[in-house]
Amino acid sequence: MPRAHGIRGRTLAILGGPRRFAEPLYITRPRLPDEASLIQLLTRVMRSRWLTNDGEMVQRLEDLLRLRLGVGFCASFCNATVALLASLRALEIEGEVITTPFTFPASVHAIEWAGLTPVFCDIDPHTFNLDVEQASALVGEHTGGLLPVHVYGNPCDVVGLQRLAERRGLALLYDAAHAFGVHAEGAPIGAWGDLSVFSFHATKLFHTAEGGAVTAATDRLRERVRSLRNFGIVDEETVRGVGINGKMSELHAAVGVGLVEVVDDEIGRRGVLAGRYRERLDDVEGLTFQKMADSMVANNAYAVVRIDPDRFGLSRDDAHEAMRAENIVTRKYFYPLCSENDSYRHLPSAAPERLPNAHRVAAQVLCLPLHGEMQLDDVDAIADTILEIQSAAPALRRHLHA
Ligand SMILES: *Cc1c(COP(=O)(O)O)cnc(C)c1O
Repeated sequence: MPRAHGIRGRTLAILGGPRRFAEPLYITRPRLPDEASLIQLLTRVMRSRWLTNDGEMVQRLEDLLRLRLGVGFCASFCNATVALLASLRALEIEGEVITTPFTFPASVHAIEWAGLTPVFCDIDPHTFNLDVEQASALVGEHTGGLLPVHVYGNPCDVVGLQRLAERRGLALLYDAAHAFGVHAEGAPIGAWGDLSVFSFHATKLFHTAEGGAVTAATDRLRERVRSLRNFGIVDEETVRGVGINGKMSELHAAVGVGLVEVVDDEIGRRGVLAGRYRERLDDVEGLTFQKMADSMVANNAYAVVRIDPDRFGLSRDDAHEAMRAENIVTRKYFYPLCSENDSYRHLPSAAPERLPNAHRVAAQVLCLPLHGEMQLDDVDAIADTILEIQSAAPALRRHLHA
């Protein structure tokens, strides 16, 4: 781990001083199972010569995940993007799908790849999640479904969305890519809605290098999702519908089986570090944290702050640049908005004046480094740097915008 230089009253790196960290401190680092157990799991797969197609390891992972995620149904996938595609098909959604512009591009791309039309809805400026009242106002005769995202693992208004979906007869598919292990309103996050999609990409809290899963409270859509994952093949002589190859390999599943054992340790470690960030930065003028849902179990997947340039003294972009110079790798996550993508900006719902909260939040969010190998000292050094950047704001502004 890169260690911080403990330098006081120092010149910021962007102004010519030494870097705070000797090596880059990345936004995340993938947790891995301990090497011996990972090798054992991978060896088992290789000796079996069964490398994909619903083998032992995939089945074991799905069993473990059903328990850990508290769901009645779990189907592993090669990644979350394909899992979203298969889910949109499994739910037989037609027409328009209401979603958020404040998300990773995959959420919206999946809608488009499925031949459906995304309709962007503004977000709540505090929770960063879909604004249910505005979503309700956007429902029209062509609306087929809702695709909300639990942004940074913060649960959406699951009760409000369920009511809306029921009242208007809409399919409800959650992008739960960030929400491994989260509970909302007393229930596991993957049990809300018709289906939920998790991402197991290497940058996510729980991962299989590349991977994902579709979950639900019940087995109702099990056969449909499983056949869509495997080209639409139902049995040796029946192929139904336009399936895709969404299968997870046995090697990837082995990583997941090993990680299920340690993911709660990772969540705990991140929780301690996330708590320290809050302790150190809660009172900083112009810096706010995402407002988390009242009734939830968190997974501490991300540490995200919002920087109000007028009150903080510096824009998010300037702060980002100053942090980079210190070897602190922060991310403008999610910026730019999906509605600004050339493929979607022509949509009436993508007009910036209809998405004022999303635009403001996207211009102000900054994702800070957070992963289980970091130490409290690292968080302290990052917090100190943020305070230094704020005190040096006038000089920084002059330097960056001369
Ligand atoms: C990472 C991510 C995805 C895509 O996941 P993949 O497994 O990489 O396909 C989808 N939605 C959100 C919100 C994500 O963060």
